[in-house]
Amino acid sequence: MQNHVTAADASIVLAEPRGFCAGVDRAIDIVERALLKFGKPIYVRHEIVHNTYVVNDLKARGAIFIEDLDEVPAGATLVFSAHGVSKAVQQEAARRGFRIFDATCPLVTKVHVEVAKLAREGYEFIMIGHKGHPEVEGTMGQLDAGIHLVEDLDDVVRVEPAQTDKLAVVTQTTLSVDDAAAITAAVKQRFPQIREPKQQDICYATQNRQDAVKLLSSQADIVIVVGSPSSSNSNRLAELARRLGVPGYMVDSAGDLRPEWFEGKQTVGLTAGASAPEVLVQQVVQQIRAYGATSVRNMDGVVENLKFPLPKGLKLDSDS
Ligand code: SF4
Repeated sequence: MQNHVTAADASIVLAEPRGFCAGVDRAIDIVERALLKFGKPIYVRHEIVHNTYVVNDLKARGAIFIEDLDEVPAGATLVFSAHGVSKAVQQEAARRGFRIFDATCPLVTKVHVEVAKLAREGYEFIMIGHKGHPEVEGTMGQLDAGIHLVEDLDDVVRVEPAQTDKLAVVTQTTLSVDDAAAITAAVKQRFPQIREPKQQDICYATQNRQDAVKLLSSQADIVIVVGSPSSSNSNRLAELARRLGVPGYMVDSAGDLRPEWFEGKQTVGLTAGASAPEVLVQQVVQQIRAYGATSVRNMDGVVENLKFPLPKGLKLDSDS
């Protein structure tokens, strides 16, 4: 038994919604089904979703995660991760004749389709996102040129599109809603005629999890986010709690928790990024109970029922 570190009668409040989104559920399902249907190994380009536990679990079951298509042998089965890939990667994979399943989240594909459509009409793009993130590489890689990345307000001042008559803005799906709104406002101020997407590109899961953390932060003395360091949406949740004045920590698993964070705390808020499984949340709950929390309750929040269809060719006998 650990030493009692929280306040007496401390409670844990679980954010609602938290954890897996429809795009992550679908992406993991695709790899699991490919393993069952075609046997191991199944090659996956990039981490299927940005979560250490999920990736290690699939590795143990026969998935091989690669970054470079050169690592995939001829005739192999290849899955593209939920973050999406560039046209160049798509074309190269097709040229090599792999059996391909695309686990790109349909909400990322929606952005790709919009970019391709407007590019055919002569548009250039400002993309708001984080440099080096695979989703940004995939979306920017839908075009050979004419898509300019801005990460912050300074970039908005510096960006130089070749023309401004036909300009559209797109965003990464997992940004801070508030940051994206501020950057979009600055982009619109500089380019008043810029075209915005009909529906915002930031996805429902990112929006709902950030809204839940705002509510959670108003009730909690500390917010713990279960998520891996590479997970954009998880990072944004911990950052949001801190911006709201509540100590916010991101942990990959219960082993990352530090007892000193909980000293004297009465209400511990707990959430998980869209790629973090509930099993890890429950392990974190157990550890915080060991620190002294005596009750656990669920916050009220939006109920998510979205489910995306699977790509063709992954039906299992057990489905019928
Ligand atoms: Fe899709 Fe959003 Fe989930 Fe990313 S976080 S996989 S965009 S639903």
